[in-house]
Amino acid sequence: MELLKERICQDGKMREGNILKVDSFLNHQMDITMLQEIGKEFHRRFANDNVTKILTIESSGIGIAVIAAQYFGNIPVVFAKKTKSKNLDGDLYLSKVKSFTKGIEYDIQVSKRYVTEDDTVLLIDDFLAKGQALRGLIDIVNQSGAKLAGCGIVIEKGFQDGGKLLREQGVRVESLAIVDGIEEGNIIFRED
Ligand code: 5GP
Repeated sequence: MELLKERICQDGKMREGNILKVDSFLNHQMDITMLQEIGKEFHRRFANDNVTKILTIESSGIGIAVIAAQYFGNIPVVFAKKTKSKNLDGDLYLSKVKSFTKGIEYDIQVSKRYVTEDDTVLLIDDFLAKGQALRGLIDIVNQSGAKLAGCGIVIEKGFQDGGKLLREQGVRVESLAIVDGIEEGNIIFRED
């Protein structure tokens, strides 16, 4: 997605620990026009998959998923919670995720009421690095008996192996920009 790649080049900063910082438009301040283009592109790629629900993980995935859902006819968005809350009652799907940015392991949880075997689920997240977040979400989809349409990722870091391993396992991963590395200060993208 050219518009996205241009924005990453313009605003993206590579930080220590292989962290790409794009908080001027995606992770802190959110550019709604950009998010609409991202949502349209996810819909273009998954338009024929009869997606009934979008599942994401708090917090950065939520805004992206909510805007994308509008292009899928306002289907519901469910977000996996990272902390226990009194609001979360009843039966839960649980899975363990190791955070790439924080380095800690935590349980993600989704109420069994909101993802069921009748659903076809699209997973959406902002970044794909080592694939831990997606693995946790896929585990939850599998526990629910729902069908997995695939994963929509805004930025995949192709120099980390999450995307490669998931695709090898047959998971459909659609990334709108794949960053393969940095050469002389320039961000290098994988060709579409
Ligand atoms: P993974 O689970 O694939 O290793 O990492 C994906 C998760 O870690 C995403 O949900 C995202 O929030 C965070 N993440 C991974 N790499 C980056 C990065 O380079 N920049 C930012 N802002 N977040 C990242």
